[in-house]
Amino acid sequence: MQARCPRCGAPIKGVYRVGKRSNTYYVAVHMDGTQHYLGPLHYKYGTRTNKIVVRGAIDVNRELKYMEEITKAITEERLGREDVINALEEIMKATAELITTATQKYPETTAALTPWIEYMSRIIQSQ
Ligand SMILES: [Zn+2]
Repeated sequence: MQARCPRCGAPIKGVYRVGKRSNTYYVAVHMDGTQHYLGPLHYKYGTRTNKIVVRGAIDVNRELKYMEEITKAITEERLGREDVINALEEIMKATAELITTATQKYPETTAALTPWIEYMSRIIQSQ
Protein backbone atom coordinates (compact mmCIF):
# COMPACT_ATOMS: atom_id res chain seq x y z
CA MET A 1 0.00 0.00 0.00
CA GLN A 2 1.24 3.45 -0.92
CA ALA A 3 2.10 5.59 2.10
CA ARG A 4 0.20 8.86 2.32
CA CYS A 5 1.03 12.28 3.73
CA PRO A 6 -0.57 12.69 7.19
CA ARG A 7 -1.38 16.32 6.38
CA CYS A 8 -2.79 16.27 2.84
CA GLY A 9 -3.25 12.59 1.97
CA ALA A 10 -1.05 12.77 -1.16
CA PRO A 11 1.13 9.73 -1.93
CA ILE A 12 4.61 10.13 -0.42
CA LYS A 13 8.11 8.81 -1.03
CA GLY A 14 8.68 8.74 2.71
CA VAL A 15 8.87 10.54 6.03
CA TYR A 16 12.24 11.97 6.99
CA ARG A 17 13.74 13.29 10.21
CA VAL A 18 15.14 16.79 10.29
CA GLY A 19 17.38 17.43 13.29
CA LYS A 20 17.26 20.85 14.87
CA ARG A 21 19.19 21.82 17.98
CA SER A 22 16.17 21.80 20.26
CA ASN A 23 14.15 18.85 18.88
CA THR A 24 13.76 16.35 16.03
CA TYR A 25 11.19 17.26 13.39
CA TYR A 26 9.64 15.28 10.56
CA VAL A 27 8.71 16.07 6.96
CA ALA A 28 6.68 14.04 4.47
CA VAL A 29 8.16 14.14 0.95
CA HIS A 30 5.48 13.87 -1.74
CA MET A 31 6.08 11.95 -4.98
CA ASP A 32 6.71 15.27 -6.82
CA GLY A 33 9.40 16.25 -4.29
CA THR A 34 7.35 18.89 -2.45
CA GLN A 35 7.19 18.53 1.32
CA HIS A 36 4.78 18.91 4.18
CA TYR A 37 6.11 19.73 7.62
CA LEU A 38 4.84 17.22 10.22
CA GLY A 39 6.36 18.71 13.36
CA PRO A 40 8.09 16.79 16.15
CA LEU A 41 6.71 13.75 17.97
CA HIS A 42 6.19 16.00 21.02
CA TYR A 43 6.34 19.78 21.21
CA LYS A 44 8.61 20.27 24.24
CA TYR A 45 7.65 23.87 25.07
CA GLY A 46 3.94 23.42 24.32
CA THR A 47 3.82 20.34 26.51
CA ARG A 48 5.54 22.00 29.45
CA THR A 49 2.55 24.17 30.35
CA ASN A 50 -0.20 21.68 29.46
CA LYS A 51 -1.64 18.63 31.17
CA ILE A 52 -1.41 16.84 27.84
CA VAL A 53 1.49 16.02 25.54
CA VAL A 54 1.23 18.33 22.50
CA ARG A 55 2.00 16.23 19.42
CA GLY A 56 3.01 16.95 15.83
CA ALA A 57 1.15 15.84 12.69
CA ILE A 58 3.63 12.95 12.47
CA ASP A 59 1.41 11.22 15.08
CA VAL A 60 -1.70 10.31 13.07
CA ASN A 61 -3.54 9.08 16.21
CA ARG A 62 -2.92 12.25 18.20
CA GLU A 63 -6.59 13.28 18.47
CA LEU A 64 -7.48 10.01 20.23
CA LYS A 65 -4.49 10.43 22.58
CA TYR A 66 -5.60 14.03 23.32
CA MET A 67 -9.10 12.84 24.20
CA GLU A 68 -7.70 10.24 26.59
CA GLU A 69 -5.25 12.68 28.19
CA ILE A 70 -7.82 15.47 28.49
CA THR A 71 -10.30 13.11 30.14
CA LYS A 72 -7.58 11.99 32.57
CA ALA A 73 -6.61 15.59 33.33
CA ILE A 74 -10.24 16.52 34.00
CA THR A 75 -10.93 13.56 36.29
CA GLU A 76 -7.64 13.53 38.23
CA GLU A 77 -6.58 17.11 38.39
CA ARG A 78 -7.45 20.50 39.71
CA LEU A 79 -10.86 21.05 38.17
CA GLY A 80 -13.76 22.05 40.37
CA ARG A 81 -17.49 21.28 40.20
CA GLU A 82 -18.34 23.85 37.51
CA ASP A 83 -15.38 22.80 35.36
CA VAL A 84 -16.47 19.16 35.51
CA ILE A 85 -20.03 20.09 34.50
CA ASN A 86 -18.68 22.22 31.62
CA ALA A 87 -16.35 19.42 30.54
CA LEU A 88 -19.21 16.89 30.56
CA GLU A 89 -21.34 19.27 28.51
CA GLU A 90 -18.56 19.59 25.91
CA ILE A 91 -17.96 15.83 25.88
CA MET A 92 -21.67 15.11 25.37
CA LYS A 93 -21.89 17.65 22.53
CA ALA A 94 -18.77 16.16 20.92
CA THR A 95 -20.11 12.62 21.36
CA ALA A 96 -23.43 13.53 19.74
CA GLU A 97 -21.57 15.19 16.87
CA LEU A 98 -19.27 12.18 16.42
CA ILE A 99 -22.20 9.74 16.41
CA THR A 100 -24.10 11.87 13.87
CA THR A 101 -21.05 12.21 11.62
CA ALA A 102 -20.08 8.54 11.89
CA THR A 103 -23.56 7.19 11.13
CA GLN A 104 -24.05 9.62 8.21
CA LYS A 105 -20.61 9.12 6.69
CA TYR A 106 -20.26 5.41 7.51
CA PRO A 107 -23.78 3.93 7.98
CA GLU A 108 -22.25 0.53 8.75
CA THR A 109 -20.93 1.92 12.06
CA THR A 110 -24.48 2.18 13.44
CA ALA A 111 -24.41 -1.44 14.61
CA ALA A 112 -21.14 -0.90 16.49
CA LEU A 113 -22.33 2.39 18.04
CA THR A 114 -25.82 1.30 19.15
CA PRO A 115 -24.63 -0.58 22.30
CA TRP A 116 -22.67 2.53 23.38
CA ILE A 117 -25.67 4.81 22.79
CA GLU A 118 -27.84 2.44 24.86
CA TYR A 119 -25.16 2.33 27.59
CA MET A 120 -25.08 6.15 27.78
CA SER A 121 -28.89 6.28 27.87
CA ARG A 122 -28.95 3.84 30.83
CA ILE A 123 -26.39 5.94 32.74
CA ILE A 124 -28.33 9.15 32.10
CA GLN A 125 -31.65 7.56 33.11
CA SER A 126 -30.18 6.17 36.34
CA GLN A 127 -29.07 9.65 37.50
ZN1 LIG B 1 1.22 16.63 2.22
